[in-house]
Amino acid sequence: MVEKLRTKGIDSKLVTDALNEVPRHLFLETMLDYMAYEDKALPISCGQTISQPSTVAFQSQLLAAEPKMKVLEVGTGSGYQTAVLCAMGLSVYTIERQKELYDESTKRLKELGYKAKCFLGDGYAGLPEFGPFDRVLVTCGAPKIPEALLRQLKKGGVMVIPVGSEHQEMLHIVKQGDDIGDISVQKFGDCKFVPMLEKLNY
Ligand code: SAH
Repeated sequence: MVEKLRTKGIDSKLVTDALNEVPRHLFLETMLDYMAYEDKALPISCGQTISQPSTVAFQSQLLAAEPKMKVLEVGTGSGYQTAVLCAMGLSVYTIERQKELYDESTKRLKELGYKAKCFLGDGYAGLPEFGPFDRVLVTCGAPKIPEALLRQLKKGGVMVIPVGSEHQEMLHIVKQGDDIGDISVQKFGDCKFVPMLEKLNY
């Protein structure tokens, strides 16, 4: 799988090593695990999806993170992307709004030995008490850039986020100054994610 990712421009060793290490089949229902190493998005609980490996790799590479950095992930889902970030040596905080997914992924990550800090909450609010973060990675499609997440990003920090309603564009945002208006934005093509929704779902 990782060889195929290289042909798609994924050349960060930190990222390819992490994808090689994390057993994606353990993040899927047994019925689907035979497809785990194909480059496909697959269904998980609550009508959500585990992103396709090339998307996980692409977002992880865009983060341009270095080991030990503090990263906030919005949309824990299955916990696969969370595990990849942990395998990259990052200090990972992850937030999920669906209770069922939060319970499943928290248990799974713990059992597999990934030391992510998992939270049940609304990613629009982020985790102000644990910020600021070096990096923010959003794994659901946001209608616009959430201000709270920009506020919780360190100066010089990077946010990778798909923005748009039906379809999204992958944005790479650098917070240039202390002000949340002081950002530079680069676009990295169209993509399709499940929507970023407000409030919790029990
Ligand atoms: N990173 C996940 C991708 C899951 S799909 C993985 O590797 O499996 C995106 C996830 O974002 C879904 O689980 C969805 O419930 C969650 N989500 C949507 N809106 C959210 C919000 N406001 N706060 C937190 N999580 C949210």
